[in-house]
Amino acid sequence: MNKKEELLKIKEDMENDKNLPLVSKPEDIIPGDGNCDSEIVFIGEAGGYHEMVQRKPFVGNAGILLNKLLSSINLPRENVYITNMIKTRPPENRDPLPEELEAYSRYLDRELEVICPRVVVTLGRFSMAKFLPNARISGVHGRKFEVNWNGKNILVVPMYHPAAALRNGAVMNEIKNDFLKLPDYLKKEEKKEPEAVIEQSELF
Ligand code: URA
Repeated sequence: MNKKEELLKIKEDMENDKNLPLVSKPEDIIPGDGNCDSEIVFIGEAGGYHEMVQRKPFVGNAGILLNKLLSSINLPRENVYITNMIKTRPPENRDPLPEELEAYSRYLDRELEVICPRVVVTLGRFSMAKFLPNARISGVHGRKFEVNWNGKNILVVPMYHPAAALRNGAVMNEIKNDFLKLPDYLKKEEKKEPEAVIEQSELF
């Protein structure tokens, strides 16, 4: 199977998984989207209304901002891969519950195995906690961390969630500045100077 076929299989497996929470019909699943050969993956929290309707991550207001932030560094959205911790829409857009995050995590892990990104940008605290469980977003946003994840070193860059930036002007400034650092982080040699190496044993 090529990468596209593997991602399609992950989507179908989620659609057929009767034990996944927050799903009443297969169409509730909002699969990851974008370039499966991308070196960079963005991970949000969960879908909202527009994502549910279009079955695509980050297509509402937060997505419009994400597109602008990507444009600000000349990184076309079509070139990156975007996904969520929870591949559906929690009721009233509430925070995901620990058991929901747990239930969806193996599908996200499979996506990451297929895409094998060098850089993962976490958007918001839930995806940050997957890689940097003890971090506080206010202290680490925009920095790069080399994380040993499933035996591979990836550069994790925690960022505020775009929806938080839409609510708060100070956060908007932070996320704009943090995005400007991404082109440097994407350069291969930057990988040699991580802020910290986090071992797998410290993660879970
Ligand atoms: N917020 C997210 O975290 N993900 C989406 O897909 C949309 C909004």
